[in-house]
Amino acid sequence: AAALLEVRDLRVHFPIRRGILQRVRGQVRAVDGISLSLSPGRTLALVGESGCGKTTAGKAILQLLAPTAGSVRLAGRELTDLTAGELRPLRGTMQMVFQDPYASLDPRMRVGGIIAEGMAALGLKGDHRQLTERLLEQVGLAPEMALRYPHEFSGGQRQRIAIARALAVNPQILICDEPTSALDVSVQAQILNLLQDLQASLGLAYLFITHNIAVVDYLAHEVAVMYLGRVVEQGTVDEILRQPCHPYTRALIAAVPRIDGQRGEVLTVAGDPPSPAQPPTGCHFHPRCPEAMDICRRDYPGESRLSSSRGVRCHLYPGPD
Ligand code: SF4
Repeated sequence: AAALLEVRDLRVHFPIRRGILQRVRGQVRAVDGISLSLSPGRTLALVGESGCGKTTAGKAILQLLAPTAGSVRLAGRELTDLTAGELRPLRGTMQMVFQDPYASLDPRMRVGGIIAEGMAALGLKGDHRQLTERLLEQVGLAPEMALRYPHEFSGGQRQRIAIARALAVNPQILICDEPTSALDVSVQAQILNLLQDLQASLGLAYLFITHNIAVVDYLAHEVAVMYLGRVVEQGTVDEILRQPCHPYTRALIAAVPRIDGQRGEVLTVAGDPPSPAQPPTGCHFHPRCPEAMDICRRDYPGESRLSSSRGVRCHLYPGPD
């Protein structure tokens, strides 16, 4: 299928300001040239440790944050050169579901108002009250709940409300940023099941940002692994989880938190993640890589294509030429 979302060489660089005069001293390359593609009805997991740039990438794809360079095409339409006014009607097509359902819902608004707000903003026609009630049912909540306030709900229920709000504007893509990591494990599974059911019934595509490999295994079709602002390996979920090639991917999978894990579990790989403000020379992973060679300290590896679906950036594999 043709890609619904096509991201090419996306970059987000932030200036670092220091001292009382706030002079610019260098920059952080939070996202440094990533390319992704997402087809209708599919789930692409964007995986990596915290601080690898995955959330920044999600925001830049949504144009919530202006990319420094690169291309984001939604159904063939380039988003990066649209004005705010031109973007507005497209806002409905891509919606974000955030990590923290406590912070993302306005506590002063009734649930019905929260869900209908986007419909009104985009000028969607129809009976908003009726649509809201139908959406609540679709996410497993009673229609009467439209009259209540967010504080009357549990974390899992709030995430259902946030999903209903996202669905209210008929999106084709949901960008889900760790949508279950603030929830108890039993509730996590319910929300993942809900997302899976919605994908089957509505044909939604998901860009699923997560550090949790168990969640990737459960939900994803394709996987892109990020390290320090770049995608170091991508492929189908089977390729990446069953036969990881990049030493970083292998380390991530070896560090899989058990599904019985406590809340807030964090993926860890031996050694400290380096600062994106001062990335190591050559392959950024070399200070932590058990297989590092001389060339790794010198040259950033180009992408080697290992199959039609799979690419890896590591000097252990034959180069791009
Ligand atoms: Fe390790 Fe070298 Fe591959 Fe980087 S390029 S992951 S340092 S082997």
